[in-house]
Amino acid sequence: MKIAVIGAGISGLTAGRELANAGHEVVVFEKSGGYGGRLATRYAGKDNAQKLDHGVSFFTAESSEFKKLVTELAAKDIITTWEGSYATRNENGKVTFRENNSPYYYAPKGMNTVGKYLGRNLDIRLNEKVGGLTHIGENRRKKKSWMLNFPTALTESADAVIISAPARQAYALLNTTIDEIETLKLVREIDEVEYESQFTLMAGFDEADMPEWNALDCEDDVIEFISNETTKRNEGEVKTLVVHTTSEFAKKHMHGDREVVEELITDRLTEILGGWAALADWKQVHFWRYSRAVNPLPHDFMEIRGNDDTPLALVGAYMNGNTVESAYLSGLKLGKHWIQQFAD
Ligand SMILES: Cc1cc2nc3c(=O)[nH]c(=O)nc-3n(C[C@H](O)[C@H](O)[C@H](O)COP(=O)(O)OP(=O)(O)OC[C@H]3O[C@@H](n4cnc5c(N)ncnc54)[C@H](O)[C@@H]3O)c2cc1C
Repeated sequence: MKIAVIGAGISGLTAGRELANAGHEVVVFEKSGGYGGRLATRYAGKDNAQKLDHGVSFFTAESSEFKKLVTELAAKDIITTWEGSYATRNENGKVTFRENNSPYYYAPKGMNTVGKYLGRNLDIRLNEKVGGLTHIGENRRKKKSWMLNFPTALTESADAVIISAPARQAYALLNTTIDEIETLKLVREIDEVEYESQFTLMAGFDEADMPEWNALDCEDDVIEFISNETTKRNEGEVKTLVVHTTSEFAKKHMHGDREVVEELITDRLTEILGGWAALADWKQVHFWRYSRAVNPLPHDFMEIRGNDDTPLALVGAYMNGNTVESAYLSGLKLGKHWIQQFAD
């Protein structure tokens, strides 16, 4: 069976990897130029020599299934534990160091290497944004049930489709299908899922009075989290930070001038860390419209089979959580379910 996966984040890659290992023909379409989705790495600074994880900084593992993947990734030297200290800054500016309850994992060569590893044996088409879906269904004279439409006017057909984009983007795609099949049922439910947004400032410093902690959680109006990326990888003299804002700040300024946003975050960063933080050699700002789901759905995945057996499924972090782990479990569980279903 030919299965089209929309999105090369961890949920789509995991579902695709399971199904390809079971012998299905899997093609992944990814709108961006890289693998991993929000497990993202930015190459920045002079000659793009610095790597910064501007999406997820680290992740934890609770379930036995995800711990199995963590063990596999660690054995391949793709991830390791982020050793060091962690701190919280309260609203009065008091910084307290804390213990982690479970290990924090990160990828020394950049978080996107997790995606590259999961997708290494898959047919992945980068820079291919799926613009819409057409349900061909039983009236078809052609062999496949689904047609994927691209802005370039090209099309691809598939027997089954997995949408692994965040719920809002999945919603937009589902709305392009003809509602003669049950997509409406999915649309109604995922319409409820809301997201936090974040601005992320990446900065490199030649001169820096770098903090002792790996990461700082902030109880603050502007800044929510600071990652001391220098503690992840030694890249010479340049010190790097990644700074995530609160969702309230991001929503207030999402339509604003990026230079103003950069300045506002830098001003606050300087108040928190000291005057040196205003003197970055380079800075970049990224906007995450869909950072984490606020109200995840209580499913492992969602699927419809259609009257004429034209399967379509939704997977993603917004199923049963809003983490890397929930994204992985969603993709894994759909993969295993479809392997069983389509073996009959
Ligand atoms: C700033 C930030 C901090 C975070 N911190 C943490 C953390 O500390 N711990 C943690 O566990 N999680 C964290 N998360 C959440 C975590 O990153 C996500 O939950 C998880 O990586 C999502 O995986 P996914 O596969 O569901 O979706 P994604 O990674 O978003 O993958 C979806 C993919 O689909 C692609 N796509 C979308 N639409 C289309 C289309 N039409 N055609 C083709 N491709 C398309 C996208 O480009 C993307 O690559 C954080 C996220 C962000 C942004």
